[in-house]
Amino acid sequence: MTKGFIFDLDGTVYLGDEIIDGAAEAIGELKKRGDKVVFLTNKSISTRMDYVKKLGALGIPVSIDEVINSNYITAKYLEHHLNPGEKVIVIGEEPLIKELEEQGIPFTSDPKEAKFVVVGWDRQFNYEKLDLAYQAWLNGAKIIATNPDRTCPMPNGQIPDCGGMIGAIEGTTGVKVDYITGKPSSFLATYVLNETIKLPGSQCYMVGDRLETDIRMGNENGINSVLVLTGITTKEMLAETEYKPTHVFDSIKGLVTI
Ligand SMILES: [Mg+2]
Repeated sequence: MTKGFIFDLDGTVYLGDEIIDGAAEAIGELKKRGDKVVFLTNKSISTRMDYVKKLGALGIPVSIDEVINSNYITAKYLEHHLNPGEKVIVIGEEPLIKELEEQGIPFTSDPKEAKFVVVGWDRQFNYEKLDLAYQAWLNGAKIIATNPDRTCPMPNGQIPDCGGMIGAIEGTTGVKVDYITGKPSSFLATYVLNETIKLPGSQCYMVGDRLETDIRMGNENGINSVLVLTGITTKEMLAETEYKPTHVFDSIKGLVTI
């Protein structure tokens, strides 16, 4: 029976710029036996092509169709939810803007014209952008964010991620943003199963190192969940979590036993 493997990247396949021991061999073996593979990242400040290049350089050849990031899934979400003539305000960095542009999403900078405000990780986020989002929201725009991650792991610690921008907006509006498109969203899970892997969730495995995104998305969407202990999650965190994975492996290497 063909299986589908949905891989998180950082902490699962590599750590920063270093491949996790045995990752290339394990992924190669799964592909050789005919299983389907897709890579999924919440990080919105790189393009999908950046990941194709990075994985290739680490000895994991992939095509762009096998990489989905939160920018791409946000474009797909907007494609499904925008009516002709409706426009979006984008608060985010160049890779997000470029991806939405490539998928034909119409932009505006007028808060009276926006149907959606899209918020991604933005290292130039400021008061003016916050006010723009707020004015659009007051005019009835829905606010969607690329990913819920509060921080992003870096070689020397962690830095603020999209969660910081979401917090500023929610602190201003007093309510939660309308939707978050990246992991663990059901829109993303459904898209990957139906459009990319094209297998039922019961034949698929969501493999990742983060309980509240990777494992949660698997559990809430009928996909087997696999925790690898090469990233952010410790055995202590696993013991306490409400998001219990279906399988736990010390590293991605263990996957070939599934
Ligand atoms: Mg990860």
